[in-house]
Amino acid sequence: MNNRWNLKNKKALITGGTKGIGLAIAKEFSDLGAKVMVVSRNQPDDSFNWDKNIHFIKADVSKTEDISKLIDEVKKLWGSLDILVNNVGTNIRKKTEEYSFQEYDQIINTNLRSAFELSRQCYPLLKKSEQGNVINISSVAGQTHVRTGSIYGMTKAAMIQLTKNLAGEWAEYGIRVNAVAPWYIKTPLAETVLKDQNYYNEVISRTPMKKVGEPKDVAAVVAFLCMPAAAYITGQCISVDGGFTVYGF
Ligand code: NAP
Repeated sequence: MNNRWNLKNKKALITGGTKGIGLAIAKEFSDLGAKVMVVSRNQPDDSFNWDKNIHFIKADVSKTEDISKLIDEVKKLWGSLDILVNNVGTNIRKKTEEYSFQEYDQIINTNLRSAFELSRQCYPLLKKSEQGNVINISSVAGQTHVRTGSIYGMTKAAMIQLTKNLAGEWAEYGIRVNAVAPWYIKTPLAETVLKDQNYYNEVISRTPMKKVGEPKDVAAVVAFLCMPAAAYITGQCISVDGGFTVYGF
């Protein structure tokens, strides 16, 4: 019974695990018994809560050469992988007609190409696990228009479809693939827009639970989806949104 509800000795790679949602997932996984590798472009500062189960690798996952180096390090260290969380995400909010080619590439490469490349490069390692899991951190912006800018929404929608395709392709190898779609969650990324009090009030007025989420609200769902208890769930996208996406009027 107990093994169904923990992540004991699971080896997990979390992109962008040094802040916000990724950091909450790293802590949740570690508390549930997993060994965790977090990845970001910058070494975490002194406030980062180092834990003996959490390791750090510096890499920019928007760069394909960094992804290859990252995978080599995971191979050397662990030889196999049980969980990949594609959490890194960025945004530039603009009207569609104002984006430059360079901004398009930056958002697509950071949010989408990284998830696609990491998933397929981790595939042989996940296959070895025989109980592999991939979680893609999408967004409600991949399901409906929420004024984030079109490119961000496109990447998040594509991550949901990537989830469905990989679930279908990899089920026979015991690899489950699911997505999580948050609405506003209190993180450094969201703070940049939520500090505008009028905008914050508007967000709350459209959210039945009348609050924004906490990183741990997302981490709990991600952890559950990776547990043996969720063994028959694959190809799904679970919203963590205080009811936002079901609120018509
Ligand atoms: P965040 O606070 O900005 O944290 C992002 C993390 O990713 C940091 O650890 C950052 O560290 C790392 N990172 C960014 N770009 C990277 C790159 N190119 N290579 C490696 N690491 C990189 O973001 P968050 O709010 O926790 O968001 C996490 C995910 O949830 C994103 O995919 C986001 O789109 C999604 N999401 C968030 C919300 C929300 O309200 N917060 C809502 C819906 C969906 P460095 O800067 O040191 O690299």
